[in-house]
Amino acid sequence: MVNYKDLGLVNTKDMFAKAVKGGYAVPAFNFNNMEQLQAIIMAAAETKSPVILQVSKGARNYANQTLLRYMAEGAVEYAKELGWAKPQICLHLDHGDSFELCKSCVDMGFSSVMIDGSSLPYDENVALTKKVCEYAHQHDVTVEGELGVLAGVEDEVQAEESHYTKPEEVIDFTSKTGVDSLAISIGTSHGAYKFKPEQCTRDPKTGKLVPPPLAFDVLAEIEKKLPGFPIVLHGSSSVPQDEVDTINKFGGKLPDAVGIPEEQLRKAAKSAVCKINIDSDSRLAMTAAIRQTFAEKPGEFDPRKYLGPARDNMKKMYMHKIINVLGSNGKAE
Ligand SMILES: [Zn+2]
Repeated sequence: MVNYKDLGLVNTKDMFAKAVKGGYAVPAFNFNNMEQLQAIIMAAAETKSPVILQVSKGARNYANQTLLRYMAEGAVEYAKELGWAKPQICLHLDHGDSFELCKSCVDMGFSSVMIDGSSLPYDENVALTKKVCEYAHQHDVTVEGELGVLAGVEDEVQAEESHYTKPEEVIDFTSKTGVDSLAISIGTSHGAYKFKPEQCTRDPKTGKLVPPPLAFDVLAEIEKKLPGFPIVLHGSSSVPQDEVDTINKFGGKLPDAVGIPEEQLRKAAKSAVCKINIDSDSRLAMTAAIRQTFAEKPGEFDPRKYLGPARDNMKKMYMHKIINVLGSNGKAE
């Protein structure tokens, strides 16, 4: 049994309370390897932004949960080395799918867990989420629940179509379960293909796909029912066109990849949305830099020479999100 406080991590309680009050959102970045983690910590330390490190089920399978946990512990010390005296770093389980998994993360030092019962019948989602909250709260670990279904693919989480969160359920769900934050579905989506071309319109000038807008009316109704309650948006990568273009230019094949426009996320960040999940954009930034290096320097075979530029490109992307989209810079001085 390891308590996250002994690792220098924080839960999401203060982070979210400040974010809701301050009209910004805390970035939740997924990590699977050292370069991603370094880029996240460098960006957060440089901007003094609170940050949530997310570990998905796929990341646990890929990199090993124990190793990732120790990497997060190392990240706190690394952040201090970078001159961030009081790092505000949360280690969060993304899309936990069982009580046992959430418990094991709590027991090994995670400071926050998500229990995703959104695919279950409502009453079962309530019961499972409540059970996780009861255990996690004994250890001061915060819990994120989910209502509504996001479309798209993210590791093992997959759904054909989205179902918006029903505002009439949110009061009942949060009061019965005791969750600390609620992930909702208002039109964001997992992956780099968030919308099918037929769901979009085309910009007549550029020929690029323009995705449908998020359901801000649903968000407003939820906010009215739960004033000040921390809301979470999953699947909120923007799928930057320049990264997609670089990937395609250097041999990749990502036709019609489309994400959530940043101005919509900016608007969401100013509302009760206080955690915005970004994963695909990091994958794209990494892949673009690696492809470009391979194409331009075919004789290179030192992994540091292509993972280094990939790390630089991810850091640039993370800083851009923090400063220009979420507004969380300077909030963890
Ligand atoms: Zn998600």
